[in-house]
Amino acid sequence: MTMTDYSAMRQRLEGEFRELLTRHGRISAHLRNEDREVPDDWTEMAQFMENDEVLEALEEHSREQLDAIRLAVNRIEEGTYGTCGSCDSAISGERLDLIPTAAVCAACA
Ligand SMILES: [Zn+2]
Repeated sequence: MTMTDYSAMRQRLEGEFRELLTRHGRISAHLRNEDREVPDDWTEMAQFMENDEVLEALEEHSREQLDAIRLAVNRIEEGTYGTCGSCDSAISGERLDLIPTAAVCAACA
């Protein structure tokens, strides 16, 4: 198995995650009438998102997007990122660049 360095991709994914959370963190803060900054740390960000009120504040699309990003980062951590979850072949770099959260290859999608 070839080890590809996905640290840049991870940064990109975490950045997108943070952006989405920040947008909705404001909604959540408004709900609870308190100021709460979105954390910088990935683990804390993921926990932040699991908060019920945050989840309630998220539109379905954003929630799905956040879930997809969370799973993609999990796959990077597990070393399965970039491998098709369906047929086990490598997902092309072009496809990942286009859809960083892609869990299956173009043929399986
Ligand atoms: Zn496939």
